[in-house]
Amino acid sequence: MTSYNKKTVEDIDVKGKKVLVRCDFNVPLADGKITDDKRIRESVKTLKYLLDNGAAVIACSHLGRPKGEFNMKYSLAPVAERLSELLGQKVIMASDVIGEDAKAKAAALKPGEIMLLENVRFHKEEEKNDPAFAKELASMAEIYVNDAFGTAHRAHASTAGVADYLPAVCGYLIQKEISIMGKALEDPKRPFVAILGGAKVSDKIGVINNLIDKVDTLIIGGGMAYTFMRAMGNSIGTSICEEDKLDLAREMMAKARAKGVSFIIPVDNIVGREYKPDTPFMRIYSDAIPDGWMGLDIGPTTQELFSKSLIGAGTVVWNGPMGVSEWDNFASGTIAVAQAVADSGAISIIGGGDSAAAVEKLGFADKMTHISTGGGASLEFLEGLELPGIACLNDKD
Ligand code: AMP
Repeated sequence: MTSYNKKTVEDIDVKGKKVLVRCDFNVPLADGKITDDKRIRESVKTLKYLLDNGAAVIACSHLGRPKGEFNMKYSLAPVAERLSELLGQKVIMASDVIGEDAKAKAAALKPGEIMLLENVRFHKEEEKNDPAFAKELASMAEIYVNDAFGTAHRAHASTAGVADYLPAVCGYLIQKEISIMGKALEDPKRPFVAILGGAKVSDKIGVINNLIDKVDTLIIGGGMAYTFMRAMGNSIGTSICEEDKLDLAREMMAKARAKGVSFIIPVDNIVGREYKPDTPFMRIYSDAIPDGWMGLDIGPTTQELFSKSLIGAGTVVWNGPMGVSEWDNFASGTIAVAQAVADSGAISIIGGGDSAAAVEKLGFADKMTHISTGGGASLEFLEGLELPGIACLNDKD
């Protein structure tokens, strides 16, 4: 179990020091242009703190999947340009990662200046967490700051390996993730309600298992609810179902019962003829889904049931949409839950991925306490797994 009590940039003297900062600059690009700069904007707080406090900052990140080779399609140069606009100062771009150019520029870097290394995944050693590569990266700096939560579940050279060679602390983004999500898992304000949705039970088994020991109420919606309905003996038509997970679903429901956790699944559904956005649809109760129809969203009674279960909650963790929310006809359940979470007044944590995207798209983002910046990382966090990019950081004294 990871300790969540990690040193932050504020717990270490950065004045006059060279600081290697692992950022998450894995931004979407189209024709070499950044189409969403959110991740760059989010990095500014930590970088500004370091620069304002007299550090010389060497930022690094991966971008896309260059498969261990130099490929300028995945160059971080556009990021340097945008970051420079946001910081209001020049961002010196290195033309390599641990090569002559990076090393010379790092050596010449002065306090208050910032440079950006090229894409760390231009070297295959990055994802292999090769110690020699990590040591080379570390050799340019005196302190390591990890602020890339989205890759914290990966033990790569720039996300974990470098911490073997440098004092290692977290930036503000990771600090926020671990303080809010860590508190929810260790000492939640109760009642603690988890809402899980999305396509597959198999993707969320670890999360269900971990949360069932901690929550007061567990709500299951989305495609994964149909495996539970089937496990209870209902007909589910052509709804998505994992036949090999039926026993597991029964076990989980029994575990919830034994622990006194209220376990809620949909009582009605919006079912469609086919897995298509414009398929004919109707509302149907969970014990009456006819053959040839598939559940694509929770129904209106379930929306009410789920929403009521959130009233008075102290902490809400939500991961996964309630239906195929990408399609308008099947988005109402996810919208209703987003509204109910926003209205609950609870500490609300949206666990990355599709639910985070849905909350942002629907305009509820500023109503939530915390929207995790990592999909896979936040799932692993909620599973109670140790994240290498966090475990490697120095604990507070
Ligand atoms: P996940 O990545 O596991 O959170 O799953 C998100 C995906 O689950 C989204 O693409 C949704 O379209 C899909 N999904 C949610 N509900 C259903 C459903 N009832 N049937 C099929 N897919 C679903």
